[in-house]
Amino acid sequence: MVRTELSAVQAARLRDTIERAYRQVPFYRSRMQAAGLLPEDIASLEHIGKLPFTTKQDMRDNYPYGLFAVPLAEIVRIHASSGTTGKPTVVGYTKRDIGIWAEVMARTLTAAGANRQSFIQVAYGYGLFTGGLGAHYGAELVGASVIPVSSGNTARQIMLMKDFGTTLLACTPSYALYIAETLGEMGLEPKDLSLRAGVFGAEPWSERMRKEIEARLSIKAIDIYGLSEIIGPGVASECECQDGLHINEDHFYPEIINPQTGETLPDGEKGELVLTTITKEGMPMIRYRTRDLTVLTHEPCACGRTLVRMGKVLGRSDDMLIIRGVNVFPSQVETVLLGLGETSPHYQLIVDREDNLDKLTVLVEVTEAMFSDEVRRLETLEHKIEAALGSVLGVSAQVRLVGPKSIERSEGKAKRVIDNRKL
Ligand SMILES: [Zn+2]
Repeated sequence: MVRTELSAVQAARLRDTIERAYRQVPFYRSRMQAAGLLPEDIASLEHIGKLPFTTKQDMRDNYPYGLFAVPLAEIVRIHASSGTTGKPTVVGYTKRDIGIWAEVMARTLTAAGANRQSFIQVAYGYGLFTGGLGAHYGAELVGASVIPVSSGNTARQIMLMKDFGTTLLACTPSYALYIAETLGEMGLEPKDLSLRAGVFGAEPWSERMRKEIEARLSIKAIDIYGLSEIIGPGVASECECQDGLHINEDHFYPEIINPQTGETLPDGEKGELVLTTITKEGMPMIRYRTRDLTVLTHEPCACGRTLVRMGKVLGRSDDMLIIRGVNVFPSQVETVLLGLGETSPHYQLIVDREDNLDKLTVLVEVTEAMFSDEVRRLETLEHKIEAALGSVLGVSAQVRLVGPKSIERSEGKAKRVIDNRKL
C-alpha cells in the first residue's frame, strides 16, 4: 500500500481506538481528562503526540483486567509475561485479535520463506508466554505443517528436526545457538537436517550472532520482534533483505522518542520505540513505552514492502546497565566476543559494588580444546578480551575465562546479567 493510503487507514483506525479506549477503559479516560483531551482532539496521526504514554507500571497498577476494553465474556485468550517483581503483566485477546495475531505472524513466517510445503518447528515456549502460540497460529494460517515441540529437551528437539524434516525453526537466538552446539555434540552436521531458515526473537541479538547462527546451522536467520503488551511476536520482522524489520504498521503505529524527555524523534535518530495498537479490541495500548532502543526508516526497501522499518533492537533502556556512569548493553559484550572469535559466544556479566565503586566482571566460556591450554595463554587471552571490551564499552571490565558448559544454558531468554548491586 502506498504511504498516503496507509496513513489514511492508520488515522481512521487510530481515531476508532482512541474513541473506544476513552469510552471503555476508565484508566485511559482519566489519563486523557487529566491532559485536557477529548477523543476528537486526536483527529489525525500528527496529534498522537498529545496523548500520555502507557507503561508497564500502568499494567501492574491495573492488574489483572483493568485495561481491557471489552466485557470479559468477549475475551477468548489470556497471556501474561513474568515481571521482575511479583505479579505478571496480563493481556487479553478477543477472537478478532487472535485472527489479527495469526495474520501478522503469517506475514513474518512468509517473509522468512515459509509456505504450505514448510515444516515449522516451534521451539518457543508454549503457555502464558506469547512466543509459542503466536508462532503456532501464524504457521497454521500459512498452511505449513506445524511441529509444536515447545522449548527444551534439546537432543529430542534435534532428533525430531531430523526425522520430521523441519525446514524452519522458531525460537530465541540464544537457544538456536545452543541447538547448534548440541547438534555438533550429537555428531550431526547441518547437512543432516532439512533446515533452511529460522525466525529468532524475544531477546536482543547482534549482527555477529546472526552470522554465527547462520554459519553453524547453515540457514538464513531472520530477526523478528514483538512483545506481549502489544500482541506478542508479529509486531515486526525482517524480510529476505535482512536490512531492518518491517513493522506491521497497519496494526501497530510506531514512534521513536527520546527516553529522557519523551519528545518524538525523526527518522534515523536512535531512541525508544513507542507503539500504539490501532486494531486491537481486547486490550488497546496507547503510546506504550517498549523500553527497546532502535531507529526507524521510511526509505524504500529492496523487497518492495512499503511498511516502515525499524533497526535491530540495540538494547533495552531498562536492561541497560549503568556502570560507573557509563551505559553498557550486554549485546556489546557479545559483539566483542564474536568479533575476536577466540572463545565460545556464551558469556555473563556480573556487576558488584565495592567501596562505592561499580565493578564489572565478564565470565566467558572457552572451548574444550582451549581449556586444556597452558595457563599463560589463557591469561593472555583474558587481557586481550579486557582490552577489547574496555575500548568498546568505555568502562573497564575484568574478564574471567571459565570452563566449557559452566555458564547456565537457557532454553528461553538467556540470563546475561547478574547485578549484585543494591541500587
Ligand atoms: Zn523489505
